[in-house]
Amino acid sequence: MKSKVALECSNCGSRNYNVPANANSKQRLEIKKFCNKCGKQTLHRANP
Ligand SMILES: [Zn+2]
Repeated sequence: MKSKVALECSNCGSRNYNVPANANSKQRLEIKKFCNKCGKQTLHRANP
């Protein structure tokens, strides 16, 4: 079963991205991504 995890902006809390759980399992669950609400790159955390 493949599941997805949402990447949540640690600054504003909006969920901007979804990534496959498998692809993220070996990485840290914190990724820098661009947030549209913040208008800049922020730290995104994965929430299963
Ligand atoms: Zn944000």
